[in-house]
Amino acid sequence: MSYCEVCGHELVLRENGLDGPVPYCEACGAFRFRRYNVAMSTLAMNRALDQVILIQQYGRTDNILVAGYVNLGESLEEGVRREVSEELGLRVVKCRYLRSKYFEKSNTLMCNFLSVVDDMSLDHVNGEIDRISWFTPEEARACIKPGSLAQEFLNKGLDDLESGRLADIFPGGECDVPG
Ligand SMILES: [Zn+2]
Repeated sequence: MSYCEVCGHELVLRENGLDGPVPYCEACGAFRFRRYNVAMSTLAMNRALDQVILIQQYGRTDNILVAGYVNLGESLEEGVRREVSEELGLRVVKCRYLRSKYFEKSNTLMCNFLSVVDDMSLDHVNGEIDRISWFTPEEARACIKPGSLAQEFLNKGLDDLESGRLADIFPGGECDVPG
């Protein structure tokens, strides 16, 4: 059962045209559409596009993609740049949206990007990251957390890259943006 975020009254379901049944507050006389979180995750790659960063975090030994919640007022792309800067100490020189998927467990819309970082130094990584490494696409596919959303995003993103579907954005297999 859910409650009105404005007045605390118990919500009922009411038909709302094409949207079908939507939570409704009879006290406020207003629909209360379900909210969700927005987060980004990214394949952070080098300029040559032949290595990708995977990390381990929060004491777990699973290899995952760099990810984080998008702040209020921030665009998805700004979220990617900020997280990569904060977590990896690296600057994003190119960033391309790939795909998204709703993640029920944390009520989050996960939006996946491919980003290219300015160099491969891992000397300024945030202390919240337990382990971090560069991997070739083959290595990354082999050791990303099995069955995870990160695995799905990684495999599909690498498929896009390898099939040439991103060639208009990343021509010649190399990032063309000057440092
Ligand atoms: Zn209300």
